[in-house]
Amino acid sequence: MQGLMQDHPLLISSLLEHAERFHPEAQIVTKSVEGQIERGNWRQLGERARRLAGALAAQGVGQGSVVATLAWNTQRHLELYFAVMGLGAVLHTINPRLSPEHLDFIVNHAEDSYLFFDTTFAPLVEKMQQRFPGVRRFYAMAGADCLATLAPKIRDLGCYETLMEAEPLAHWPQFEEGRAASLCYTSGTTGNPKGVLYSHRSTMLHSCVAAQADLMGASAGATVLLVVPLFHVNAWGLPYAAAMTGAKLVLPGPHLDGASIYALLRDEKVSMAAGVPTIWQMLFQYIDQQGLDPRADLCLETAVVGGSAAPRSMIERFDRQFGAYLLHAWGMTEMSPLGVMNRPLPKHAGQDDEARYALQMKQGRAVFGVRLKIVDDDGLSLAHDGVARGRLLVSGPWVIRHYFKDEQRSVLDAHGYFDTGDIATIDADGYLTLVDRSKDVIKSGGEWISSIDLENAALGCPGIAQAAVIGIAHPKWQERPLLICVRLPGAEAGQAEVLDWLGGRVPRWWLPDAVVFVDSLPLTATGKIYKLGLRALFKDFQLPH
Ligand code: AMP
Repeated sequence: MQGLMQDHPLLISSLLEHAERFHPEAQIVTKSVEGQIERGNWRQLGERARRLAGALAAQGVGQGSVVATLAWNTQRHLELYFAVMGLGAVLHTINPRLSPEHLDFIVNHAEDSYLFFDTTFAPLVEKMQQRFPGVRRFYAMAGADCLATLAPKIRDLGCYETLMEAEPLAHWPQFEEGRAASLCYTSGTTGNPKGVLYSHRSTMLHSCVAAQADLMGASAGATVLLVVPLFHVNAWGLPYAAAMTGAKLVLPGPHLDGASIYALLRDEKVSMAAGVPTIWQMLFQYIDQQGLDPRADLCLETAVVGGSAAPRSMIERFDRQFGAYLLHAWGMTEMSPLGVMNRPLPKHAGQDDEARYALQMKQGRAVFGVRLKIVDDDGLSLAHDGVARGRLLVSGPWVIRHYFKDEQRSVLDAHGYFDTGDIATIDADGYLTLVDRSKDVIKSGGEWISSIDLENAALGCPGIAQAAVIGIAHPKWQERPLLICVRLPGAEAGQAEVLDWLGGRVPRWWLPDAVVFVDSLPLTATGKIYKLGLRALFKDFQLPH
């Protein structure tokens, strides 16, 4: 027997319609590329998205078209989100930090026909344009005055604000919810990047879950600072959650330095901010240099941290210095991205600080809709006892099935699970702890050393700003850990101090065989430490005997 309820397709345009109708005055604040604060709201965004959609539809953009962006977090970028996806075309958000080779590959692989760019990226577009023969038109995301300087340099150039003169689209088209909505490429540390193609349905289901009170908890009373880029996995779904709930959005544009982020947190009274650990480290350094008091200046309640492990020192600092809860999350591009999030259970109420911080270091429990399992090398499920470590497999309605243009090859196992490439434990309460990327774990004497755990411990050491651990080949043990650190400005910590600090905090046999100091660590396009690059850099490193 079939249910007798209405069958509405789950479409992203419905989010915008809802936000315009029920939260028209909820603000969208942008720190523009040029550096000034611009204030919009959902009513204005809705109106402008319909004008943009009208202009794009007049050029033939619709089902099957792919429109690319090379852009920061701004209202214009969000308008493109809703206009392009609302039309039933695909929005391809490009990570501008990719190498020219990868940019060349993905623009051509995705068959982008329009490319919108912030003027910051004009030199990049100028350099790359001949390698993008399929791009029919480039649009500078600025006013018409930009054309005078850019038109002589970039072929087929248009300007974003001129598109706003178009007749607005009268109605968002209706189509089936399985249609593709947006496309993101994985950062591809080895080989070419791979495309992950989200559908309207997967995005909508993910958004409904992401907005839950126990997860990111967007609401009409919340002010959300999106430090996580709109070009990285739809900014973790937060723009959609904001439209659904009417949260105020704060978009920092290209201004991710500590001073700008601090000013936005303070001036816009941000209650929730989301970003990768490297961003928060930069903010902390700024606070220290300026001697600021975040508890007095800010009203931040929640910092959502994912993409890399949140170190204990960061959890503690948000708690003590900001009075804010670090909401630890784990996910990946292939998962839209949400997999697990860490909120305490009622039984954890009243825990002392030590126990609370230890719990927060875990990545969290599965969100509704995501199934997790850990398996051994033979694919057999391992116990959820917090000890057994294995490959982490996932399935769910917003988890990948095939990579884009690779539909012949399933990326799922016989039971429909996707192998994340991560190694994890899961405890009896369902809290997942990420041990390592399987490629990064250090194999020493038949045992594993977690580079994440060692890095977390090293980051607590006074004077250490950043830490990365890689395995170095060893004749007897197969691999031994090398710790590579960046000192805080003015700090003088040396190998002896760091090893001394680690001494009581990690098992003896985990202690790095050497500690080296560098000025900076290479980062991937998504702000993670670029381990592959570090391994290449230290491939001839001789461990002391
Ligand atoms: P990406 O697809 O670029 O978002 O990267 C996903 C990968 O980042 C995951 O497979 C993990 O290896 C890593 N990752 C994401 N969140 C965390 C976290 N909270 N702790 C440790 N690693 C993480």
